Amino acid sequence: MSESKPTRKRRVFSGMQPTGEAHLGNYLGALRRWVQMQDEFECLWCIVDDHAITGGGDPKELPKKIVDLAVSFLAVGLDPAKGILFVQSDVPEHTELAWLFNAVTPVGELERMTQYKDKSAKYESVPVGLLNYPVLQAADILLYKADAVPVGEDQRQHLELTREIARKWNAVYGDLFPEPEAIIGNEGRILGLDGDAKMSKSLGNTVDILAEPDEVWARVRTAVTDPQRVRRSDPGRPAVCNVYSLHRHFSAPGVVEDVAAQCRGATRGCVDCKRILADSISATFAPMRERAAELRAHPERIRHILEDGAARARVLARETITVVRERMGLDWRSAWTR
Ligand code: ATP
Ligand code: MG
Repeated sequence: MSESKPTRKRRVFSGMQPTGEAHLGNYLGALRRWVQMQDEFECLWCIVDDHAITGGGDPKELPKKIVDLAVSFLAVGLDPAKGILFVQSDVPEHTELAWLFNAVTPVGELERMTQYKDKSAKYESVPVGLLNYPVLQAADILLYKADAVPVGEDQRQHLELTREIARKWNAVYGDLFPEPEAIIGNEGRILGLDGDAKMSKSLGNTVDILAEPDEVWARVRTAVTDPQRVRRSDPGRPAVCNVYSLHRHFSAPGVVEDVAAQCRGATRGCVDCKRILADSISATFAPMRERAAELRAHPERIRHILEDGAARARVLARETITVVRERMGLDWRSAWTR
């Protein structure tokens, strides 16, 4: 009788910054897929607060933002019985490994990153953390030897760099890290309400997934539509309208067809079209708003989940960092035994 070896589930690492409330882009590009993956993969879901400090922000606000993001993770359906949900700074091995990776990461590669170019343009004096961000991201992923990373399109380049750091480190210090695969959905980059930049917590061009219906409407009504449609009687072009592309994600197929036809035929104005979109978005997230309210009524549950998650993550993190330290010669006690 042949014995079949139990196959280990593939491990995935997922991170999100507590720079604000989770928004539609985070949901479509990340959270929704994390939920779908939790049965098939061994998952780590990380609230990356060490990353969030690179963007400035008020330290007094950060603890609340971290907890709010944990609530969003749980409300969309991440199940702590199926994966490890934790806060990055509870596992200091992330920052330790990032420092060690600095030894093999070329500055030129970091300067080439599109997000670095975009985000650094806002600063007169650019903090080094902004440049180093992808090194910490590589550490987040490789610390757990993740096989795959589900990210939005905007993170493709950072994932390439993670693979390069793994390769370079392995070449110098010996094979240890797998080259993680980026799992990128087909939803692309979700654009913000400005219809131009990607929807981003730090840009404020968002619709938050847990917003109340009146807030969703207040946000959606500001969305930029087809700039050529000046008057209500002008025919619109759904293909270039961000409101229409959001309809395709959140409205029922029949509604999507209707709004496209009415836009092209100028029989429905943009405000009405946005009203329908706001209703579709609010309806999509209604069960999650309910779950979030219930969780917020039990803060001790959230605390327990995060503390338990950190303890489990640390066990895995220590295994890797011990080997890394040895290979890089930081185990000075071995001077007597080598
Ligand atoms: P920040 O502006 O602070 O960088 P963010 O909104 O870009 O915040 P992140 O925490 O950087 O969010 O990213 C979390 C996850 O959401 C990542 O997997 C990222 O690829 C995905 N994501 C973020 N914005 C979008 C978007 N507009 N479309 C698709 N996916 C996105
Ligand atoms: Mg981002």
